[in-house]
Amino acid sequence: RRIAEADSVAVIGLGRFGTSLALELMASGTEVLGIDSDEAIVQSLNGELTQVVRADSTRLDVLQQLAIGEFDRVVVAIGSDITASILTSSLLLQLAVPVIWAKAIDERHGAVLEQLGVHKVVYPEKDMGRRVAHLVRGAAADYLEIDRGYAIVKTVAPEHLHGITLTEGEVRAIHGVTVAAYRPANGEWRNAEADTVLHDGDTLLVVGPTAKVEKFAQLR
Ligand code: ADP
Repeated sequence: RRIAEADSVAVIGLGRFGTSLALELMASGTEVLGIDSDEAIVQSLNGELTQVVRADSTRLDVLQQLAIGEFDRVVVAIGSDITASILTSSLLLQLAVPVIWAKAIDERHGAVLEQLGVHKVVYPEKDMGRRVAHLVRGAAADYLEIDRGYAIVKTVAPEHLHGITLTEGEVRAIHGVTVAAYRPANGEWRNAEADTVLHDGDTLLVVGPTAKVEKFAQLR
């Protein structure tokens, strides 16, 4: 048992997605064991993660040697080699890892992972494609769909709301959305309150049904 303590995660596959995920976990204070079969990748991440190991994750003896079964959370970030992704996920299930995350490159890959019993299947390319579609077509400065049909957008405060409170603007009644936070030009983000007065140049974080926040983001 090495770094497999409470707040640690093993990331298998250190391609673009796995590396980015692993570095972000490190930055937020989580210990990370990174595993990749490619020596050059392992070398380049040496010192950046708590521990980086060159290993083939499709072998049970290798995973056992690395005490992967001791981790509470393991991420399978292998995408293009679907066979390796599936074999690795299957072994992690066999080792009874409590929470297994796996990246799927498409629906069919994801369906197999879900059938296997992988707990959390993520679709980074599909999700990012959908997200960017909303940025491309709409006026929102940023967009995140929290769940099917419910989203959060970053947008500018529309002119008809300048100089009045959110209550006076009847934002919820008229637009069906909630202003969660705002940032004055050159200021900091603050939580929006009923008596918050918006000004020209304010940036807003607006939550609500996808269609409604999109419509709101188009207001100027
Ligand atoms: P991305 O699109 O995020 O770059 P890839 O699927 O291309 O993801 O990268 C997957 C990574 O997983 C590669 O660095 C590859 O070396 C690694 N990998 C693939 N198969 C195995 C395996 N059996 N064991 C360990 N690492 C693997």
